[in-house]
Amino acid sequence: MEQKRIEGLWDCVFCGSRAIRARFATCPNCGKSRGIDTVFYLPEDTGEAALTEEQAAKTTDRPDWLCGYCDSYNRSDAAFCKKCGAPRSHSNEDYGTLHKDRD
Ligand SMILES: [Zn+2]
Ligand SMILES: [Zn+2]
Repeated sequence: MEQKRIEGLWDCVFCGSRAIRARFATCPNCGKSRGIDTVFYLPEDTGEAALTEEQAAKTTDRPDWLCGYCDSYNRSDAAFCKKCGAPRSHSNEDYGTLHKDRD
């Protein structure tokens, strides 16, 4: 029996994996435990909560963006920071860019 319960999601700040389901206390990608300050959010499209592991892995290919105000990683489709609400336009660099340039 499938329950219509929306599961919270969280993002791994270590490897950038996104939309990790709340049932996982550690990142399925890099194995790090989520921090105590992990921010949970609900998927905008509730269908996303029902993604398979394979589909969930694919969603991690989408680039994140880093909030310039609170240093939170946000989903590529988020127009505002999930943590502090700052508009995305203030953050010009996405996650991939930040990590590529970091040497
Ligand atoms: Zn991770
Ligand atoms: Zn922010």
